[in-house]
Amino acid sequence: MPGRTARVTAVDTYDIRFPTSRGLDGSDAMNPDPDYSAAYVVLRTDAEGGPEGHGFAFTIGRGNEVQVAAIHALRHHVVGRSVEEVCADPGTLYRDLVGDSQLRWLGPEKGVLHMAIGAVVNAVWDLAAKRAGKPLWRLLAEAEPEWLVGQVDFRHLTDALTPGEALDLLRRGRRGAAERTARLLEGGYPAYTTSPGWLGYDDDKLTRLAARAVADGFRQIKLKVGADLDDDVRRCRVARSAVGPDVRMAVDANQRWDVAEAIRWTRALAEFGPYWVEEPTSPDDVLGHAAIRRAVAPVKVATGEHVPNRIVFKQLLQADAVDIVQIDAARVGGVNENLAVLLLAARYGVPVCPHAGGVGLCELVQHLSMFDYVALSGTTEDRVIEYVDHLHEHFLDPVVIREGHYTAPTAPGFSAAMRPESIARYTYPGGAFWAADPGGTRNTAEDRARDGTRERDGTASETAKGRAV
Ligand SMILES: [Mg+2]
Repeated sequence: MPGRTARVTAVDTYDIRFPTSRGLDGSDAMNPDPDYSAAYVVLRTDAEGGPEGHGFAFTIGRGNEVQVAAIHALRHHVVGRSVEEVCADPGTLYRDLVGDSQLRWLGPEKGVLHMAIGAVVNAVWDLAAKRAGKPLWRLLAEAEPEWLVGQVDFRHLTDALTPGEALDLLRRGRRGAAERTARLLEGGYPAYTTSPGWLGYDDDKLTRLAARAVADGFRQIKLKVGADLDDDVRRCRVARSAVGPDVRMAVDANQRWDVAEAIRWTRALAEFGPYWVEEPTSPDDVLGHAAIRRAVAPVKVATGEHVPNRIVFKQLLQADAVDIVQIDAARVGGVNENLAVLLLAARYGVPVCPHAGGVGLCELVQHLSMFDYVALSGTTEDRVIEYVDHLHEHFLDPVVIREGHYTAPTAPGFSAAMRPESIARYTYPGGAFWAADPGGTRNTAEDRARDGTRERDGTASETAKGRAV
């Protein structure tokens, strides 16, 4: 039908869980047995032969169904929208989602609902980049600064960053962008790896993986710490001797400590030269981070993977509480809010070293750092993206690491799409993997009783197909 407007026709959701807890992959001081999971969303349209938009929130197992339900609760904002309009201006949808007058009570702008907004908004950006025929980093880097400023919600930010200041940063950031794009395509973006340092790994595995990381070209590794100080001293010594004096070694406490304990513990590890201490205490404790930072220098303080929104990032920067900003692609309200955080970091001159790993977080966040390099901060100095070598095989456009660098994606989109066969196999609880599971570490009697009820109700197969609306 000529002139027909293509619209979003469905917001399909999937509860996808991977049994990572069984190998202690991803284990840290606060999260000893994560099952890396995605509350996954597909935006379908009636554009003939047109692409779908894919996005997800990352969780670590139980509660993923709550995250899925939160995404489902947003569908009325999305279904029926013009595909062209929503892709030309994702910021309008983002503001509508954040501003929902009833759902807002569940935040505002934090937690499960806000992560759901992030999943939907990121799916729109995936759709927009696919329609533009560009990888997302390139779509952002080539966008007009005025348009990018229009994608940011400056509410509650203007005491630190005004639209005019953001515009100046973006205009300045574009100078030399073509050369940086060429350099990025040639050499990629620096990465560091957390793969050697999970808390559940023994010293032999730590040594082997740390040495391999250096041989693979990484110039920084990271160790999980915070469960037992004597163990941490031993593990840091083992890791330092495996990587030598010149490779950076960060430590990550995953919020385990109170402020005084964070200071004491970090000082006790100082002889091993940690580059940064990550999430030393509660992500909400701005002043606590500031106190820790003053006390542990020259060890740097990093946080961000659990910082719920741009306003808390603003405070961390205003209070001189962090040396490193760690954005997460799937924690805040999607690309739009991460643009705000990148601009804030640029305004304060603080490097951004994203959190990644989990499932699909590397695939997403590389685009934001690459945009930042090409068209905002203009540098990769002291900037690295976290890399973890788990679960990439489930993605259609997985990250490619070469000599310790992320290779710039060239396929159109946000690299968010999972393989259909992986979605089918790992959908919980009805997918082939979980349905055949004999009862693993986290599949409790209670789970099995509930799953039995679902199967009798027929709801398990509905979940396995995804829920169309
Ligand atoms: Mg961390």
